[in-house]
Amino acid sequence: MNLAQWLVRRAAVSPTAPALFSGITQVSDYARFAARARSVAAGLQARGVQPGQRVALLMRNDPAYLVALYGIWMAGAAAVPINAKLHAREVAHILQDAGVALVFASPGLDQHVAGVPVVITPGADFERFCATGPIEQIAARAADDLAWLFYTSGTTGTPKGVMITHGMLMAMALSYGVDVDPVSGEDAALYAAPMSHGAGLYNLMHVHAGARHVCPQSGGFDPAEVLMLAAHHGRVHMFAAPTMVKRLTDHARAAGATGEGLRTVVYGGGPMYVADICDAVDHFGPVFVQIYGQGECPMAISVLSRAEVADRSRPGWQARLGSVGRAQAAVEVRIEGAAAPGDVGEIMVRGAPVMPGYWNNPEATAQTLQDGWLRTGDMGFLDAAGYLTLQDRSKDLIITGGSNVYPREVEEVLLQHADVAEVSVVGRPHAEWGEEVVAFVVGEAAEVELDALCLSQIARFKRPKAYLRVESLPKNNYGKVLKTELRKLLAD
Ligand code: AMP
Repeated sequence: MNLAQWLVRRAAVSPTAPALFSGITQVSDYARFAARARSVAAGLQARGVQPGQRVALLMRNDPAYLVALYGIWMAGAAAVPINAKLHAREVAHILQDAGVALVFASPGLDQHVAGVPVVITPGADFERFCATGPIEQIAARAADDLAWLFYTSGTTGTPKGVMITHGMLMAMALSYGVDVDPVSGEDAALYAAPMSHGAGLYNLMHVHAGARHVCPQSGGFDPAEVLMLAAHHGRVHMFAAPTMVKRLTDHARAAGATGEGLRTVVYGGGPMYVADICDAVDHFGPVFVQIYGQGECPMAISVLSRAEVADRSRPGWQARLGSVGRAQAAVEVRIEGAAAPGDVGEIMVRGAPVMPGYWNNPEATAQTLQDGWLRTGDMGFLDAAGYLTLQDRSKDLIITGGSNVYPREVEEVLLQHADVAEVSVVGRPHAEWGEEVVAFVVGEAAEVELDALCLSQIARFKRPKAYLRVESLPKNNYGKVLKTELRKLLAD
């Protein structure tokens, strides 16, 4: 089924329901949203775009993003979302690799595109493009037809195109309602993280339910704006990377804001430290839900529910809060090579939201999909109750004197110090031990205090042998700490 059917049906049943907002201003109801998307589809057809062809979205968060996305789907084409912060060289690689037929680009970003037709969106160019519409019939699509070609963030080499099908997104959206959070027509989805990533996929369940979609006018994440929009719209849902949750909490506390109107904050995409999530729940209350996913199984591997994130009464709650929860309904999760609960190995996933492979890359596909299982590249363990705990990616594991050190457990301890704002732990080559543990620290905490904290909670061999103070940690466009950069710094 073509997922754009969800918009068609919603517009038929609730045409006047408010749909798209730029900040506090409504730009479309559902009837107009669907009609505009049909016009985009007509424009694509008029330019010869066929079902199955790829059309890129090189756009900042904007209501027109969703109009263009649904228009692409209505024409039967596949969307290629490109992070608006990428370098022109990286954009060129994606356009070429995906064989993109046309690009919708935010004003200013069109300069990054060469050799492919561009439509500046929104604006007069976009209006001219849509002028032929709307189409009557949307294209038929099967579950295994391509919907979204997602380029991995490339922290480990050249970005690869993950093929995300209509069926995968359907499974993701349905298990979201069952496991993560039910969505109603009263809700509002706020897009504070890039829509080119998982945050943008969360539009699906909100379209299905007939909820409102709100794009901040800043086009990105500004804690003050998020709190203002939550208070204004009410019943707000948003996806936030862990660093965003921390910034939101710090800002709200300093500004004396309670987070009125914030209904659900889904966090994931990187490790959330126990101290940080406790702090966030203390301030905002039980609004947080954690998910674990990756482009290859978008947003849909595991979930730690709202109640579990807020629970500090059951024995062992800290370990649960440090986990990424239990498998979502549509997937099976196992640990490669594990004989018993607690054994660490690579996390393997199988099920309807898992990709069929990488675009035009059979070698990478064969390495990543084995016997129907997705090798996530993440290390972790399952406990007897089925809770999954991540222990960093295999490449981040530090082996010192033959013993394994998972950076995350050291980072968790260091973050308990009030004067540590951020921290990242990596291995540095060492003649005798193979590697030694080194911590990059943002904050004023004294070294002796950090050392004492570690000695009080973790094995001696795990404690950092050096603390390097930095102004900030290098991060990619999605806010993930680039440990490769830190290791390069050490090598230099
Ligand atoms: P991406 O494909 O860019 O979304 O990156 C996915 C990777 O982010 C995963 O393979 C994990 O390493 C990491 N990740 C995602 N969700 C979580 C989470 N809840 N906790 C820790 N790491 C996560």
